[in-house]
Amino acid sequence: MSNLLETHQVSKNFGDFTALNQVSIAVPKGSIFGLLGPNGAGKTTLIRIINQITMPDKGSVLLDGETLAPHHIQHIGYLPEERGLYKSMKVGEQALYLAQLKGMSKAEAKVKLKYWFDRLEIGDWWHKKIQELSKGMAQKIQFVVTVLHSPKLLIFDEPFSGFDPINANLIKDEILELKRQGATIIFSTHRMESVEELCDHIALIHKSNKILDGPLNDIKKQFKSNTYEVGIKSGQANLEQELYDKFQAQPASFKTLDNELKLNLKIAEGSSPNELLNFLTTKGEVTHFVELIPSANDIFIQAVKNN
Ligand code: ADP
Ligand code: MG
Repeated sequence: MSNLLETHQVSKNFGDFTALNQVSIAVPKGSIFGLLGPNGAGKTTLIRIINQITMPDKGSVLLDGETLAPHHIQHIGYLPEERGLYKSMKVGEQALYLAQLKGMSKAEAKVKLKYWFDRLEIGDWWHKKIQELSKGMAQKIQFVVTVLHSPKLLIFDEPFSGFDPINANLIKDEILELKRQGATIIFSTHRMESVEELCDHIALIHKSNKILDGPLNDIKKQFKSNTYEVGIKSGQANLEQELYDKFQAQPASFKTLDNELKLNLKIAEGSSPNELLNFLTTKGEVTHFVELIPSANDIFIQAVKNN
């Protein structure tokens, strides 16, 4: 079994409203899987189904090849979108309590918590009350409690919302480290910045339907347009027009120190970038030549527009 988690044709209605319509995803073992989509797409609903908080109306979920059952909960670490900690409890007390709920002994929980609190430099907070912490600080505690028992599947619902850029980066690095140690990770987001650095695989949910999925690099290949960002210094007066005609040129903007011609040039399917480059060198000095690779954000916008 190379997928740790699979959902098969999962549907969920709330009254007349279809929140998920036959959504199938496959999360390979050891991958970071991005569940992407605009607000209200159905991401949290799917995550709640995987965590057995809500039941699907139709479809099935498999964890490591087995139909999802209550005992699987111990193998999953889940950071919910709505973060909630008991406000009047102290941080340490709360963390120990939550760790024990997950089946850890108090002694083991203490050792692991000390490791994580040191690692995230939050050791000083141990005796503080939750209500004294900022939202981002409380979220760090919840992150620790989510990963503490080293579950094989980690599910983070919008893990970066509520964090400042420094802490968002720190959490991003921790997620990469958890993957390195062998965990499989699913995270949802409606913001694309984190996707490039983290995801091996993505699924894009839009209006309750999965509209795109696969390895991120394959999807990028699928969406790329054989366009090259080019800078060229040339004495030929009508070069720009010639390039417009030959390569459907579009103005490009990138920073350089010179005043060269800057264009995005599209090559025909099956034609090689070398042919373009060779052609350009007959026209002048090529100062810049880079393939335009669509970002996760471009793909997201394009795919949603196509639907
Ligand atoms: P996302 O996480 O992608 O932003 P959600 O899964 O939270 O989206 O929600 C998808 C849709 O389902 C939204 O329109 C939301 O209002 C609706 N929804 C979610 N949970 C419930 C519920 N318990 N009752 C009624 N509607 C719900
Ligand atoms: Mg959500």
